Amino acid sequence: MRKKWTMEQRLHGQNQRAKQAGTRHDLTMEQWLETLEYFDHKCAYCGGEYEVIEHYLPIYKAGTTVSNCIPACLHCNIMKDRKGHNLSFYQNENVIRFIKSKGVKIRFHVHKYKALKKDYVILCCEGCGDKWDVPGLAMDEAQAYIDQFFENTGYAYIA
Ligand SMILES: [Zn+2]
Ligand SMILES: [Zn+2]
Repeated sequence: MRKKWTMEQRLHGQNQRAKQAGTRHDLTMEQWLETLEYFDHKCAYCGGEYEVIEHYLPIYKAGTTVSNCIPACLHCNIMKDRKGHNLSFYQNENVIRFIKSKGVKIRFHVHKYKALKKDYVILCCEGCGDKWDVPGLAMDEAQAYIDQFFENTGYAYIA
């Protein structure tokens, strides 16, 4: 069975993680309770059961702060990371509205991959230079591959 942590322990743990990452770590219990209240103690993404403190932007980038921490269910928490490059979770209106209410504006970079022929096909984003090696991919299949696997990928950042 999973150990049941108290809310204080969870909060302390997340602040510690941010501290170790060298980012801001000043989320207070009072702020977190207000955040839970805002989201009606539900997952901020899907409205399901709240299970974890979720960092909207990676903890090593934006820390454990009132504008970066929201309640999430485990499923959304895992899916958001797994689809780390897919922006659909990041563009959740409910979440964006909350972050904005904390005075932080979020912008999105959407990758625009183009296929380049090196030793094998490489996908390169024209905007940020992000590269993916795709050995085995044929040049004439590259666009279909991009459309299928890289639709609306990119990253969110603080404007
Ligand atoms: Zn959820
Ligand atoms: Zn890009």
